[in-house]
Amino acid sequence: MSSKKVILVTGGSGLVGHGIKAAMEREGQRSDEEWHFVSSKDADLKNRASTEALFAKIKPTHVIHLAALVGGLFRNLKYNLDIFRINSRINDNVLSTAHKHNVEKVVSCLSTCIFPDKTTYPIDETMVHDGPPHDSSFGYSYSKRMIDVQNKGYHIQHGCTFTSVIASNVFGPYDNFNCENGHVLPGLIRRAFDSKADGTPFVIWGTGSPRRQFIYSLDLGRLFLWIMREYKEVEPIILAADEESEISIKEAADLVIEAVGFKGEVIQDTSKPDGPLKKTTSNAKLRKYLPHFVFTPIKEAIKDTCDWYGANPDIVRK
Ligand code: NAP
Ligand code: GDP
Repeated sequence: MSSKKVILVTGGSGLVGHGIKAAMEREGQRSDEEWHFVSSKDADLKNRASTEALFAKIKPTHVIHLAALVGGLFRNLKYNLDIFRINSRINDNVLSTAHKHNVEKVVSCLSTCIFPDKTTYPIDETMVHDGPPHDSSFGYSYSKRMIDVQNKGYHIQHGCTFTSVIASNVFGPYDNFNCENGHVLPGLIRRAFDSKADGTPFVIWGTGSPRRQFIYSLDLGRLFLWIMREYKEVEPIILAADEESEISIKEAADLVIEAVGFKGEVIQDTSKPDGPLKKTTSNAKLRKYLPHFVFTPIKEAIKDTCDWYGANPDIVRK
């Protein structure tokens, strides 16, 4: 009997999916693995029949589940209900279909914004359900928390190895560079390029003081490969760079300005909301498993992302 892993990556056309693909291509395709990166064009995972048809076609032994309606602070504030309903439906379809098809392992992607708003720092994996998340992203956060509830249920009731990772703020090539819908770094990168081209001031939204632990999509991709192959727990694991790497939005903006070579005026729009002031997480669990993992320095990763944005005007999502 063949022991080849057939790995289905839902949401494979997005930022994180491309990070995994790049990490996999960098290390070279393994003969015992067959990868399928799919998008909403292959199957609308909101739809049960479409999800079933995808699993029947690919016949995965392993699933990395990334597909979701994803957005930054501003999209979350506007569409909390839609995001909760859509993502809950996608997650239920994917997990229940994976169970029906006897998938050996599912790794879903949660996010550090799901943690309680009122908390002690650093936050760790045991604190996911300790209190309400920040109000700005309650829909997204509760739909993600329910994946952890389902993973526990599938394990206790059916013995499944369905697990999850909790990723901090991701950025990199193939991100969504739409300022209203996307996350902070792609928003800043787009505005820096536009301001440089138009000779207009570069605007930082909010006070610039919130702090974030950014992770480069390629680093997250390398970690996903390890999780998919080696991680045996059902309980989630935080995938974030070390606590000391946390920077303010203003510091992130300065790195973007330097990478893009913008020389004009920099202003702040403090009428825009800040979201959580910080969500500092501990990566001690990850470090126990992988003490020597080296994260790409943020300055280098931002420069690479800006270079990719500048070189790919035809495929940039904005
Ligand atoms: P993204 O770039 O917006 O990609 C989203 C992916 O989901 C795309 O491949 C999209 O397909 C697919 N998708 C959306 N709706 C779908 C549907 N109804 N049916 C099938 N596929 C659908 O998002 P991302 O940043 O890579 O996020 C991937 C995962 O990581 C998400 O679960 C997200 O919550 C999690 N995460 C992200 C961050 C972050 O900072 N970005 C942080 C922590 C966790 P199309 O290309 O066809 O639209
Ligand atoms: P979060 O980390 O999940 O809150 O989400 P974001 O990646 O959307 O980061 C939000 C933080 O960056 C807030 O403090 C915003 O005020 C600030 N920010 C500055 N410019 C932007 C931008 O262009 N887009 C977004 N989403 N946030 C921005």
